[in-house]
Amino acid sequence: MDNNQYYFDAYFDFINFVDERIAELEKIHSKNLVCKKKCCFCCMNTTVLPIEFFSILSKIKLSGKKPELTNESCAFLKNSLCQIYQIRPLICRTHGLLLAYGKDDDPLAKDVTFCELNFTKSIPKLTEKNVLDMDELNIELVRLNEKFLKSYDGELPERMELSDIIKYL
Ligand code: SF4
Ligand code: SF4
Repeated sequence: MDNNQYYFDAYFDFINFVDERIAELEKIHSKNLVCKKKCCFCCMNTTVLPIEFFSILSKIKLSGKKPELTNESCAFLKNSLCQIYQIRPLICRTHGLLLAYGKDDDPLAKDVTFCELNFTKSIPKLTEKNVLDMDELNIELVRLNEKFLKSYDGELPERMELSDIIKYL
C-alpha cells in the first residue's frame, strides 16, 4: 500500500484545499451556523470511494490509534464525538453549509440543501461565493479515485463502507 502514498498525499492536498474553502464559508455564514462539538445529527454510516477509504486508512495506521466501532448512527461516533474527526471524509466536512448539487434532469440547474438546524432565521441570497458546489468537488474526487484505481493492484468495489476500515487494521 506504501506505493500508493503519492495518491494519498494528493487526496489530502485536495482535502486541505476544501477545508480552506469551508473555513471561508463558515466565516460568511457564522451567524446562521449552530454546528458545535457533540452535535452529530448529521452523522451516519456512509460509503466512500476507494481513494478516500485507503487514504483515511493510511492515516489511521500512521496514528497507531485503532478506533472502536460503536452502535451510534455512524460507527465511528463514540459518546457523540467522531473518533476520526481530523481525517473524516469529504462529505462529513461539508455538513451544515449551503450545498449545491446539479439536478438529475438538468445538471446545469442546482438544488441547494442544508442542515435544518442551520439557517433557521434567514436564508441568504444564494451566490457562487456563499454556496459550496458539491458537483465540482465530487468531480475532482472521482478524478483522484480513477488515478488511484489505475495504479491499484487488484479489484475494488465502486464504493466501500467506511466502517470496514476496521477490517484492515
Ligand atoms: S450540520 Fe447540523 S447536525 Fe451537523 S453539526 Fe451542524 S448543526 Fe449539527
Ligand atoms: S466519520 Fe465522523 S464525521 Fe463522518 S459521519 Fe462518522 S462520526 Fe460523523
